Amino acid sequence: MTMSALGEPCVLLKLGEVVLKGNNREVFERRLQANIRTALKEFPFKVDLRQRHGVIAVFLPEGTDAEVADAVAERITYVPGLVWVHRAWRVAKDPGAVTKAAIELLADREDVRRGVSFAVRSRRRDKRFPLTSMQIDRTVGGELNDIYGLPVDLKNPELVVSIEVDRDEVFVYTGGLPGQGGLPVGTSGRGLVLMSGGIDSPVAAYRMMRRGLRVDFLHFSGIPFTTSESIYKAYALVRALDRFQGGSRLWVVPFGKAQQSIKASGQDRLAVIAQRRLMLKTAEEVAHRLKAGALVTGDSLGQVSSQTLQNITAQDDAVDLPILRPLIGLDKTEIMATARRIGTLAISELPDEDCCTLLAPRRAETAAKIADLKQIERRLDAEELAVQLAGSLQEYKLEG
Ligand code: ATP
Ligand code: MG
Repeated sequence: MTMSALGEPCVLLKLGEVVLKGNNREVFERRLQANIRTALKEFPFKVDLRQRHGVIAVFLPEGTDAEVADAVAERITYVPGLVWVHRAWRVAKDPGAVTKAAIELLADREDVRRGVSFAVRSRRRDKRFPLTSMQIDRTVGGELNDIYGLPVDLKNPELVVSIEVDRDEVFVYTGGLPGQGGLPVGTSGRGLVLMSGGIDSPVAAYRMMRRGLRVDFLHFSGIPFTTSESIYKAYALVRALDRFQGGSRLWVVPFGKAQQSIKASGQDRLAVIAQRRLMLKTAEEVAHRLKAGALVTGDSLGQVSSQTLQNITAQDDAVDLPILRPLIGLDKTEIMATARRIGTLAISELPDEDCCTLLAPRRAETAAKIADLKQIERRLDAEELAVQLAGSLQEYKLEG
């Protein structure tokens, strides 16, 4: 391999809210590092992670190609807890080497040939470097200006050359990929997501993972009265969401027979809420087995008749565990925009036979009375039914 002035390709990560943590900051940083390692398992080499103040440097094996480093950076953008992912170059801690690297970094760039405006922005995490940040900006900026004839624009540059002086080396890069923000998965405990094949619940799952919750997925299928399509959809959605946490598990409960019993109870208008309560009771049973401390749903206030304030109250009444509803205050268009960005929208829009269509009444109750629901549940023996349903749980393992 020919060594260029650029040094070794590496990846530089900027931490999000983790930096606000006080005493337990180290716990968060360790978890974030473990999550990064998990995300990088698909690469056939080991990376070396170096925790620095507010950043993590990802060192790759010597001789790693720039393209491979790009792929590593791209993969890391899915790991919650980071705000920026920079594909950087690791350069010797010497002003001459830094200038040379910056010059080489801009060689062969179309925008540089076009004459973009630029600025050099430096920062020192190690103040022992012989130049101050301002001096680095001036020296490197002057050289780049001489060589490429680019105009300097400190306020609104089209191209920013970033230089970060660290303990053992200097990082040089331009641009960066936005991270997910949020907290490292696993720092907020474990939750169980009620996953339909719809648009909302995958977005709810994403939002909670991003707040540090590790999640399992529970899907109720209409089997034996519907096809398995909804399971395939749930499976595909979980696969797409797994990029954000790794190690995801999909659990499926065959729910068709229970739905028939609800239907047979004759209370047409209450059927949807009664079934939602039974789903929640079953989910609570499953959550206890999985040691999950919360349930997560894709409810959004007023979106459909089962999501009015009264009906949400009736759902909360069914279980003791908290029901987290991260989409409660979002519009459908906002939810869809997130679904598109995280790659679940196209899967959710595939046709399927949702189990809920089995009992869609002509007019659904918008203000279900808890006493009426409890009466239906007594006839059904809902508590016992929920335990039975949880017992029929099947795990769908993600391959690969
Ligand atoms: P989604 O797009 O997530 O399906 P929705 O707008 O269709 O939501 P509902 O059908 O009322 O709304 O469902 C509300 C929430 O109940 C869902 O977001 C999900 O968390 C849960 N849920 C609904 N159906 C199922 C199912 N078959 N399996 C698991 N959870 C479900
Ligand atoms: Mg739905």
